[in-house]
Amino acid sequence: MIVRRAEQRIATLLSPVAGEDARLEASFLLRATGFRSPYQTITEEQTQALYPMIERRLSGEPLQYVLGEWEFYGLPFYVDRSVLIPRPDTECLVETALKLLTPERNAVLDLCCGSGCIGIALAVYGGARVTASDVSPEALSVTERNAKRNGVSITTVESDLFERIEGRFDLIVSNPPYLSAEEMRTRDASLRFEPALALDGGADGLDFYRRIAERYREFLNPGGTLLMEIGMTQEADVSALFQNSECKADYGGRPRVIVVKNDD
Ligand code: GLN
Repeated sequence: MIVRRAEQRIATLLSPVAGEDARLEASFLLRATGFRSPYQTITEEQTQALYPMIERRLSGEPLQYVLGEWEFYGLPFYVDRSVLIPRPDTECLVETALKLLTPERNAVLDLCCGSGCIGIALAVYGGARVTASDVSPEALSVTERNAKRNGVSITTVESDLFERIEGRFDLIVSNPPYLSAEEMRTRDASLRFEPALALDGGADGLDFYRRIAERYREFLNPGGTLLMEIGMTQEADVSALFQNSECKADYGGRPRVIVVKNDD
């Protein structure tokens, strides 16, 4: 059988969960297992070997976890259920941060780093010297693996926000957990596979911004900048916690990144 035919069969199986993306998802699964060309030959056994992945997907697990890898900012990232799946929304934060990096001002702290995608993208594209921290040791090992995968060296620190951070940085970047209790309760089935630790921002979703607001100045160099991703309804509430902040919109026109200048 040729790969294209297997792709059709797998797409039919995936359609209850993947809908109109079923064909695309089937092609991702085949590519992940090494089949690049639609006209390559695939044996019945090789097709069967994909069934455990298909089963996982049919149980509602997001494709990214099933593949174990996802792309962010054009780079490959290993992902598992201990980290949030990197989202295109977060590319807005990376893009904004890249414009602020210079060879002299390149010390970056990535707080709540998860898979490490933000800090690693800044190291790869901006030559940043990155310290990445997370409260979860599992997430930090994913970050370390991803740094290696992308050929950069970064420092990792297990820390609950700033608790165990030392030194000062030119940029602090963060995509903290920011869903409210209500959003956590009503979240989509696919989000239920992602770590609550990476999503749950407390009753109103703003707990982490409040805690960051209390201490970020201690860790920013003079003239440094804090950049945080926010949920699309949080612009006013988060801006109110910081002086001198502005908000950048993502490509969908949604408020997405709060930028705070340190004017110390
Ligand atoms: N962007 C994610 C979502 O809406 C939330 C990420 C986060 O809490 N940092 O699902």
